[in-house]
Parts: sequence; C-alpha cells; structure tokens
Amino acid sequence: MVRADGVCKNFGALQVLKGIDLEVNRGEVACLIGPSGSGKSTFLRCVNHLEVVNAGRLVVDGDLIGYRERNGKLYEMSPKDAARQRRDIGMVFQHFNLFPHRTVLENVIEAPVQVARKPKDQAVERARDLLSKVGLASKADAYPAQLSGGQQQRVAIARALAMDPKLMLFDEPTSALDPELVGDVLDVMRELAASGMTMLVVTHEMGFAREVADQLVFMDGGVVVEKGDPRELLSNPQHERTKGFLSKLL
Ligand code: ADP
Ligand code: MG
Repeated sequence: MVRADGVCKNFGALQVLKGIDLEVNRGEVACLIGPSGSGKSTFLRCVNHLEVVNAGRLVVDGDLIGYRERNGKLYEMSPKDAARQRRDIGMVFQHFNLFPHRTVLENVIEAPVQVARKPKDQAVERARDLLSKVGLASKADAYPAQLSGGQQQRVAIARALAMDPKLMLFDEPTSALDPELVGDVLDVMRELAASGMTMLVVTHEMGFAREVADQLVFMDGGVVVEKGDPRELLSNPQHERTKGFLSKLL
C-alpha cells in the first residue's frame, strides 16, 4: 500500500529526510518512533502530499505521490490532482484540528459533502454510524469545545474515516491527551487495525506498537535506523541509537 524508495526532503539547506526506504503492505500497521526532529511528521506529510519530496519515490496503492510520469520524465502534479490523491488518505493530527464552530456531526460530514459531493442524507447516515463506532453517538450535536481531548480525537478519526480512506496516517494522536484519555483513542485505533485498515502511526505508545503493529520503524536524523517485528525490535534492538532511544522511553 505504501512504498518509499530513497525519499528525501529538504527545507532550504536543511536536509530533513535523507533517503527513507519503507514498505507497508495492505492491511498492515506500521508504527514509527524516533526522537523529536528526526523527520517523522515530515515523512507522514510527504505520504499525504502535504509536502512534495525532493528525491526518491513515494508510491501509495500504485500511485506515485506528487508527480506525474510522462515519457520517462517526472512532472510535479497539479494542485487539483494532488487534492484528488489526498482524498483517499486519512490523516489524524496531534491537535485534532476540528472546525470549532461546527458541531461534531457537521465536522464529520464536511468533506464527504463539500469535497466528495455526497448527498447530505447519506453523509449524515454514515457519520452517525462512524460516531457510534468511536463511541460518540450521543455527541453528534455537541461542539468540539464541549468535548474532552480524547473525545475530540475520536471525532477526528471518524471525520477521516468518513472519506473511506485506503490508508490512515496518525501523527502522535495521543501525545496531547491526559493519560486517562489515551486508552479510549487507542481502543478505536486497535479496532480500526483489526478491521483491516492500513495504518502508519507515529506514536510513543509502546504497548500499542508491541500489540498492534506488524512493523516497528525507528527513525533518527532523517533515516530509518532500524525496522522489524515490534517485539523483536523492542527486546533486541541492533543499533546503539535504537538502544539509547528505547532506554529513555522506559
Ligand atoms: P519529528 O516529527 O520527528 O519531530 P519533523 O518532521 O517535525 O520531526 O521535523 C524534522 C525537522 O524538519 C526539524 O528540524 C524541523 O524543524 C524541520 N522542519 C519541519 N517542517 C519544516 C518546515 N515547513 N520548514 C522548515 N523546517 C521544517
Ligand atoms: Mg512530529
């Protein structure tokens, strides 16, 4: 579902991604860990085409992200094509990013109605279904500010799912939450993984990674230092940098 080959990204002179190689199969969950500033968010943003890579190839479901290939040459994609590509990829951020002046239900139907041009009654029906899946059926008419952080994050997940994405990206979805609210969000993500969704998750919830991930990827300084089976990697890291990082997490 996702294949990164030598993905590089610079911001001016700052080289943030220095050749990322990564593969996530359909239905798999990959967790991404690494120190702050190692390029994890930038990588997710590249996968979602919020950033355009400078070198290397990023392919999602057979689709080259950000570029069109014509006669063996690569051309940067039009904003319209980019938006279309992004529609199939759901993203959940650390800080929820809900529309504050819209109700929970309105947040969830926004993209299906405005972007995908789905009939409103269908969008509402699907939104209610998704809200009950994330345990928030009773909050449909509430405003984001009336919800806890954990509830807001579950709305954000429902909102992303409303576009029927083939891939879900999570960027530290529980890092901004009070500890007692983390569990409910992880439960929703666990169920989503069990339903067969392909997921790329930046998280430092090692219990989640150990239990749910098919693959754990340790990034540092813009490269993948080490990746593999989560239990294996956590109990027997091969690189000093991985060992150092994990020892600080525990
Ligand atoms: P992580 O998510 O692993 O903490 P990021 O991908 O957010 O790391 O950031 C990696 C590096 O890229 C940091 O040094 C950050 O300051 C830099 N960076 C990220 N986005 C931008 C940007 N839009 N412009 C300039 N530098 C950026
Ligand atoms: Mg980040």
